Amino acid sequence: MRPCRECGTSPDPDAASALTWVHERDADGREHWLCPACARRHVRDIEAKLPHEWWA
Ligand SMILES: [Zn+2]
Repeated sequence: MRPCRECGTSPDPDAASALTWVHERDADGREHWLCPACARRHVRDIEAKLPHEWWA
């Protein structure tokens, strides 16, 4: 896993919260991770598959 794309937090692989990190893939094939807090904040953007530059 890599740091959160939005806030740069690094995941703790030993923590249960690591399971709630969101893995997503851009239209151009780049992969990103989002921590639980950012995933929750951007859940609508993620579900709509908006390009990141459109994220609120
Ligand atoms: Zn984050």
